[in-house]
Amino acid sequence: MEEKFKRFSRQREEILEILKGTKIHPTAEWIYFQAKKKIPKLSLGTVYRNLNNLHQKGAIRKLQFGTPFDHFDANTSSHQHFICKKCGKIYDLFLNLEKDLKTEAERKVKFRIEKVEVAFHGVCLNCLKFSQ
Ligand SMILES: [Zn+2]
Ligand SMILES: [Zn+2]
Repeated sequence: MEEKFKRFSRQREEILEILKGTKIHPTAEWIYFQAKKKIPKLSLGTVYRNLNNLHQKGAIRKLQFGTPFDHFDANTSSHQHFICKKCGKIYDLFLNLEKDLKTEAERKVKFRIEKVEVAFHGVCLNCLKFSQ
């Protein structure tokens, strides 16, 4: 049992390290292929379980943009995302607007708002250059 626990926490640490080492906001599958280099026996299901576990603990962010797969982000500080509809890249934006949005929304409705997520969609500069 002790061994099993160690193995699980090692996998989780590895997954977290991989996510911390990238800014591409990867999918579970991408993380799986990276982690598999170090942990050959790893399964995709285990990666999903660990990511959900880390997300529940607040250690990582889970991003859902209506795309087929969830994306993950080790940067849990307040920031927004821009999703390019041409290349699919996800960019970080650091705008100071969540607090104002939350305050304004709470003033209008009397709900308790716990999380504000802002996503911008469009075409990134790289893709704009290419299409010219
Ligand atoms: Zn693009
Ligand atoms: Zn991000």
